[in-house]
Amino acid sequence: MGCAEVIALDQVRARKHWTTLRQQLHERFDRWLDQLEAALPEVEPTLGQVSETIWALRQQLTGGVAETIVHHTHREEQQRAHMPCPTCARLLPARGPVPRCVETMVGAVELERPYFYCQVCHTGSYPLDEALDVSTGRLQRDVQQAAVDLATEVPYETASTLLGRLSGITVSSERMHTFTNHVADGLSVVEVAPSRAEIDRRVRQVAAGRIRRPVLVLGIDGAYVPSRPESARGRRPGQARHRARRARWQHEWREAKGFRFYLLDGDRIVHVLSWHQVYSEDELGKALQQVKEAGLIPEDTVRLCVIGDGAEWIWKHVQALFPHACQVLDYYHCAEYLHKVAKAQYSDSLQALQWVEATLTRLYMGKVGWVLGGLRRMQPTSAEALKAIDNCWVYLNGHRSRTHYRTFRRGGYPLGSGGMESANKFICHVRLKRSGAWWYEDSSNQMLALRCAKYNGTFERVLRRPPHPKVDA
Ligand SMILES: [Zn+2]
Repeated sequence: MGCAEVIALDQVRARKHWTTLRQQLHERFDRWLDQLEAALPEVEPTLGQVSETIWALRQQLTGGVAETIVHHTHREEQQRAHMPCPTCARLLPARGPVPRCVETMVGAVELERPYFYCQVCHTGSYPLDEALDVSTGRLQRDVQQAAVDLATEVPYETASTLLGRLSGITVSSERMHTFTNHVADGLSVVEVAPSRAEIDRRVRQVAAGRIRRPVLVLGIDGAYVPSRPESARGRRPGQARHRARRARWQHEWREAKGFRFYLLDGDRIVHVLSWHQVYSEDELGKALQQVKEAGLIPEDTVRLCVIGDGAEWIWKHVQALFPHACQVLDYYHCAEYLHKVAKAQYSDSLQALQWVEATLTRLYMGKVGWVLGGLRRMQPTSAEALKAIDNCWVYLNGHRSRTHYRTFRRGGYPLGSGGMESANKFICHVRLKRSGAWWYEDSSNQMLALRCAKYNGTFERVLRRPPHPKVDA
């Protein structure tokens, strides 16, 4: 019985608590209505005028609601008179109150809270800030996340303007840059990859109703991104007198190497995992290894297939990590070699076209032996033709086992890495290739990591990674 009474009493308290809060919110709303009344046009306003007036005042309303709730629900922390020092346990008296204004997506929230300082340990704290989990700096986590979301889509300047226009919150483009760096700092491929459970779910979806295991394609490819060398970094503001000197650096295009795992579902591609970075072949190999070691690739429930062009390093990594994968030489890359031969041998004649078509058809039918023999029997018409024929022969012969296109087709394997182009476009081109934008390596890699997270469907998770202590808003 006593227990029931306690519950009832708690309920009454909670009820009373809420009634008081409601009362306070109503008062707040009333004050806001006074502002609205003053701001509305005196004669019958248009819908546009009503909307514009409310839009201009909306943050005061929503921020005010948030502020009222915070004040009401953390009354004890705001009125706290003493606290024990977290280090030495001395009882510290409250100082202040110290005002602080923080900005959230719903508006500004004013805090007034006591400060506790231990003169022995030389440490101070604001218990209210901790209770509220307030971020360091004025702009709170939700604003930072919105800023990063926008900045991974459009240039920092535009992102800053758009955020201001749509939310009423001012975040400078430099700050956007800082937040983005902060979120992307040290991201690894495993952190932006979907979980194994999620990957399994996608595999099951594609496998449903099929007898054969679905084909999981691993495409490896590069895309060029505009870069600037480290030496182009400006001097620090303290050395401003040097800044008038014209930049001496030259921009360059650097290769962002990437891989993408994707499932084939008929003509459709089901994305699984992408990772692109400006880095060396070895580092790409290490990233692939991390994916494998994290157990992300369900090798037992799929038929893994790797598509690449002739680059030796690609096959080296694949052989080491996924020795049982079906290796496919990109058919369209072969076609380029054949076109070169045709151009050198027959120039731009009809004969050139016919030769390419006939040869490609043979390859398509899986007759690489015929193609190699045909190349051998060709009478080169020039030194250039001789070279093109030789190159083509060496290329096809070296990758002979990867050109069984007829078998591949029957097995439902792809012949080209068509899935890489859309990934390159979304991850590398859309955000990094902007007129006048030349990226430092670490900035481009951070942006690429975030773009990959968006592509992989893990962006929200990446945004919510535990805060990094060095953020400074
Ligand atoms: Zn102390």
